[in-house]
Amino acid sequence: MTESEPEVKCLLDELGLREKQQFPISQNKRYIARNGKPVMIPSNPIALIKSNFLSTQSKFQILLEPFFWKKSDFSKVSDPQESVAGFFQRHFGKEVVEYLIDPFVAGTSAGDPESLSMCHAFPDLWNLEKRFGSIISGAFQSKLTAKREKSGGKKDSTNKKQQRGSFSFLGGMQTLTDTLSKELGKDALKLQSKVLELSWSCNENSPTDNWSIAYASNHTNNSEEQSFDAVVMTAPLNDVRELKITKRGNPFPLEFLPEVSYLPVSVIITTFKKVNVKQPLEGFGVLIPSKEQQNGLKTLGTLFSSMMFPDRAPSDVYLYTTFVGGSRNRELAKASKDDLKQIVTSDLRQLLGAEGEPTFVNHFYWSKAFPLYGRNYDSVIKAIEKMQENLPGFFYAGNHKGGLSVGKAITSGCKAADLVISYLDSSSDNKLL
Ligand SMILES: Cc1cc2nc3c(=O)[nH]c(=O)nc-3n(C[C@H](O)[C@H](O)[C@H](O)COP(=O)(O)OP(=O)(O)OC[C@H]3O[C@@H](n4cnc5c(N)ncnc54)[C@H](O)[C@@H]3O)c2cc1C
Repeated sequence: MTESEPEVKCLLDELGLREKQQFPISQNKRYIARNGKPVMIPSNPIALIKSNFLSTQSKFQILLEPFFWKKSDFSKVSDPQESVAGFFQRHFGKEVVEYLIDPFVAGTSAGDPESLSMCHAFPDLWNLEKRFGSIISGAFQSKLTAKREKSGGKKDSTNKKQQRGSFSFLGGMQTLTDTLSKELGKDALKLQSKVLELSWSCNENSPTDNWSIAYASNHTNNSEEQSFDAVVMTAPLNDVRELKITKRGNPFPLEFLPEVSYLPVSVIITTFKKVNVKQPLEGFGVLIPSKEQQNGLKTLGTLFSSMMFPDRAPSDVYLYTTFVGGSRNRELAKASKDDLKQIVTSDLRQLLGAEGEPTFVNHFYWSKAFPLYGRNYDSVIKAIEKMQENLPGFFYAGNHKGGLSVGKAITSGCKAADLVISYLDSSSDNKLL
């Protein structure tokens, strides 16, 4: 995960997780496959211009973008349904979409630039265009302003350089959820429980405690009930559609919630003996652009897990985490473990010279790994708003709005919690029980 959001910083501090935060080794070394081989991505725009990663034409297009995209030009093209591909092609051309944007969106959301909505998938960049016209000068100016605001116009005297970028925890991401559940306590948390029914009733005498929740716990079929002041719903929207919700005793039908399209992904974990990997690469991992399927590569990308975190595998093996499927190849995501092992082995042979069979294979299939922020995603956001407007004290959070990542999910949860507090404050008897 990353900690670009202030809510994440706050959570890590509050949970006392700083000591367990684990930053990957050489995380700036990231690769993209080109002509069937991994090529290191230049780590900043100047290095990109100096490198041979893009053609001269694309480099010129990047250099000239601030001049071509003045604020006044942009008003002509603001289409809220514009795809990610359309947006970046306007600014930087086709090659940038094919070799930078396509692998990036596949690696972070399993989506493809044509299907993804720009204003929902990259709201910050969408707004930058609105404000500045040019993405490059907009990003530059916003960074400058943020820096100035942070230091209050003064130079940072602490000189404390914080590590940045992606990170995990000693013990893996599970450490975060384990720590959270320990902090909340077993009594407050109902793990392995499925919410079945929610009902809101307006009790004049007690403005709080209006939500009654029925849930089945610990795999038993017996349903239990409990009352709450408010509800923050973080289940995927398609699961919310299955719930029974009542309002003042009447059914609250959820048919207005549109069906969200989900992208399936298989995650395949393999290890290879170090001696059998002829061109191991140090760094974060490699992403595969869709175009590289013509060079025989079928996976979406691979994380070099044990290169980043050597404690994750015995010292004589390399451990890799490979992703297959997404909107590029929905069918392949569903393939059997054996078929996926062959596909991954073939890609890793081509990319890293991994010879022979993996010494260990594990496989997870996520049938609904990511909601697709498609070009009609406005209807999803509007339906979420309608649900919240019509159900007092009901708030929806999670990765169906505001971004797809652990950090964004945390931020969304924190924002919902703030709304709950305001809601309870504004109710006549503002007791936070
Ligand atoms: C393969 C894969 C790799 C990823 N890698 C990264 C990464 O490297 N970095 C990153 O930042 N993000 C990554 N993500 C994305 C990240 O995992 C999600 O954005 C994040 O988990 C979203 O959190 P959430 O709480 O919104 O939803 P979820 O994590 O989907 O949680 C929703 C929960 O609701 C539960 N639920 C559903 N219905 C009910 C019900 N009726 N009652 C009770 N519970 C219910 C579900 O069981 C589920 O546990 C990855 C996702 C996948 C699939």
